[in-house]
Amino acid sequence: MKLTIHHLYADMMNMYGDRGNVISLEKRCEWRGIDAEVLDVNIGESLRPTGCDIFLFGGGQDQEQTLLVEDLSGPKGRELVSIIEDGGVVLGVCGGYQLMGHYYETPEGERLPGLGVMDLHTEPRKPGEERLIGNVLVRVPDPVGDSLREVVGFENHGGRTMLGERAEPLGRVVAGHGNNGRDGTEGARYKNAYGTYLHGSLLPKNPWLTDQLVQAALRHAGEERELEPLDDGAEEEAFRSVAGRVRPRR
Ligand code: GLN
Repeated sequence: MKLTIHHLYADMMNMYGDRGNVISLEKRCEWRGIDAEVLDVNIGESLRPTGCDIFLFGGGQDQEQTLLVEDLSGPKGRELVSIIEDGGVVLGVCGGYQLMGHYYETPEGERLPGLGVMDLHTEPRKPGEERLIGNVLVRVPDPVGDSLREVVGFENHGGRTMLGERAEPLGRVVAGHGNNGRDGTEGARYKNAYGTYLHGSLLPKNPWLTDQLVQAALRHAGEERELEPLDDGAEEEAFRSVAGRVRPRR
């Protein structure tokens, strides 16, 4: 079975190297002999799901977000919502994450409509508030087990994301700011759709999450295959190098 990695707005939403998420998924499939291909899906281009898919929506500046919302408000956005409601696997990072909610309001007061598939919205920072920037360590309930995992990444956003009643956070902030620097939440999860502020890029430093996305896509396509473990020495060292610096001292 071939896994198709759809890189949404690849030529625009690729802030802080979020393309590294595409490469991480591609390589971890290749190392296991899983056939994977990458499809860039830019403005005006339609989605071409193959039945075994992961959709990635990276981060970007307000300007890029403004440029793509018309495209996202059309058939492509409606199809992405139905894919998510059907259990399809999506990872939205920062600007992409914000546009999975009801709206993203820019500092100029313009409300950019999102997919509305996650019950959240994003407000601009208030006068005198800084952008939320820095390394982040998040404690995440394991999506399939009942253990707690951790992810690290780097955030740089002005927007403050507020979760609605039907939204479940991806996890809780151990170090850093997260969704809004106030309520201790980071990101959001809905079915097999994940949203996060963590750039870095996220997946190379958090191999367990990469494998979760691959496993979920295969399972959603009816392929019950356990992913064989890989030698994650380099990835775990990269994780520790960040987590060790930001983890609060007891
Ligand atoms: N433009 C959005 C903000 O500033 C998202 C930024 C990003 O994707 N890093 O909040």
